[in-house]
Amino acid sequence: MNSSSEIRRIQTDMLIIGSGVAGMLAVVGAKRSGVTPMIATKGTFASGSSSMARGGHSLALAHSDPADNPELFFEDIQAGGEGLCNERLIDIVSTESIDRSAELDEWGLGLVKLPDGRYDQVPGGFPHRFKRMVHCDRLMGKPLMAALSKKTKSWGIEPTTHIMLIDLLKDGDTVVGAWGFLYREGIPVVVHAKSTVIATGGAPQLHALNDSPPVVTGDGYAMAYRAGAELIDMEFIDYQIVTAAPEKLAGYPPYSTGLLGAGGHLLNGRGERFMEKYNPENKEHASRAVINRCMAIECYEGRGTEGGNIHIDIRHVFDKVNEGPGKSIVGTMAKNGIDLRTDFLEVGSAPHTYLGGVRIDEWGRSTLDGLYAGGEAAGGIHGANRLGGLALIDSYVFGLCAGIAAALESKTREAPDPASGNWRDGIADLAERASRTGTGPSAEAWRREVQDLVVTSLDQVRSEETLTSGLTDLDRVGGEFDDVDNSGGTVRKRSESLRQTFETRNLIEVARMLGTAALMRRETRGGHFRIDYPERNDNNYLGNYVVWSDGGKCRAELRPVPGRDAVAPPPPGEHATSFNTLPQDEAAESAA
Ligand SMILES: Cc1cc2nc3c(=O)[nH]c(=O)nc-3n(C[C@H](O)[C@H](O)[C@H](O)COP(=O)(O)OP(=O)(O)OC[C@H]3O[C@@H](n4cnc5c(N)ncnc54)[C@H](O)[C@@H]3O)c2cc1C
Repeated sequence: MNSSSEIRRIQTDMLIIGSGVAGMLAVVGAKRSGVTPMIATKGTFASGSSSMARGGHSLALAHSDPADNPELFFEDIQAGGEGLCNERLIDIVSTESIDRSAELDEWGLGLVKLPDGRYDQVPGGFPHRFKRMVHCDRLMGKPLMAALSKKTKSWGIEPTTHIMLIDLLKDGDTVVGAWGFLYREGIPVVVHAKSTVIATGGAPQLHALNDSPPVVTGDGYAMAYRAGAELIDMEFIDYQIVTAAPEKLAGYPPYSTGLLGAGGHLLNGRGERFMEKYNPENKEHASRAVINRCMAIECYEGRGTEGGNIHIDIRHVFDKVNEGPGKSIVGTMAKNGIDLRTDFLEVGSAPHTYLGGVRIDEWGRSTLDGLYAGGEAAGGIHGANRLGGLALIDSYVFGLCAGIAAALESKTREAPDPASGNWRDGIADLAERASRTGTGPSAEAWRREVQDLVVTSLDQVRSEETLTSGLTDLDRVGGEFDDVDNSGGTVRKRSESLRQTFETRNLIEVARMLGTAALMRRETRGGHFRIDYPERNDNNYLGNYVVWSDGGKCRAELRPVPGRDAVAPPPPGEHATSFNTLPQDEAAESAA
């Protein structure tokens, strides 16, 4: 780590942490409100889950069926969320998503249209009652991020890359920016901002097997938690089927549409087609949540493969898979020596989307002054489970809302005092760790220890016993933070090791929130399965667990689900009632 004289100091009106779709839409919201923000990202640009988005996003456009409308979409979202979705938030998502999608397409997304000009809408999975997913006829992530990048570059705004923000700065109860470091060069950074938006995505790296990019490590959840914000629904995770072996393909998405949709079978390690037992009616066509849960139960009860996984058998439908949406999977496996005409595919159940996050209102406002959140970092939209194609529209809509409101708030605030926030101690600690020879595990080994603990105790199959022991073990493993060895190698290697150490500390905080809420929720609902309480229990648990840090101790409380009448006050200053107001420069361009 470079000496403290090299600290990079920045003052900005508004800081956006994360440059996935939510962060980029927050830029749009800021520009629309007349503020030029700083946007910072840990990876290169387009490195979050957004850049990997595959199928598309879902909308009540009614192009596939005139009977569809936002009200029915609202009902389906709430049914999917098993009654726990904040109704104000899904009211906004089910309507505003239409304009957001049209605008992104105008900016170059390239959604597929039918010859008559309507958008092509394909099925988004259970419990969508209509075909709602619009798509690009190829993976959506790249064109999506390219369109957003082109737009924000036209305003002269580009993300600052390879910067890991570690903690929020607070002046009294107000968030006034964040500090962290440019981890490639080992340069500490302090950003004072009049308002801050967290758009750091989920926490898939809590599991060794996952389908998401390595930079998404729950940093925003942990930062907000340590700063005293409330988080909601942290016990709910949306799982997905991914390749488990060979190791170099681990996490590669075979998903279910291509293989199971065409008639493939799921087999346990004994060769039994286990879905017949759990769901004789739908078998491998049951909902994604049900299939993933059944896979997890088979493994938990010792009926997995030798590697602790599940097999997919498509031998009997090989031609059908190979002619349909599974063709690319067949090709990828063949290149890696797995011939799906004769071989099984070894798969596991891995986290795909974190459903909870920072508790926000309809303006993306957190429970702390000056702090906003959007996208996967925010919670309250999906409740216990999410519908296909909903993660993206949630990120578009609440990324934008957070950007608008944070910008308006920043206009009402004085620039923060550059001495405010506890950054000096944080940076001194960072620098000291960088030069310390730890007596404990390497950063990589510590990460694996945490991931193993999560798989053993805090994964899909939960019980009083596993959760209680998991939470105790988390305290022990968390205590190793001070011993992690970041010494050795070049400045860059040491800095990256330090980055991984701070990320793992964040993952431990996320696991603590998850475990605490999961222990209290003595029922099964959506992405939360208690083997000791296998039924849904509306009498006692039709509410959201909200968690927060009380002097470092994780507290949780069950709160009523916000209804449609629970309207939040507008942000300060002047605001447009429509989210579509053009930024001044664009308005001028349009008029010309
Ligand atoms: C393989 C895959 C396919 C998917 N397909 C679909 C789909 O078809 N449809 C759908 O609706 N959803 C899909 N999803 C989910 C959806 O893509 C995500 O939920 C959504 O893109 C999240 O966007 P986001 O902006 O909130 O976060 P992300 O896109 O994950 O971005 C997070 C950003 O935060 C930055 N960051 C993180 N920590 C820090 C830090 N400490 N300091 C600075 N920056 C930080 C990262 O670098 C990154 O820029 C998919 C997810 C995956 C993994």
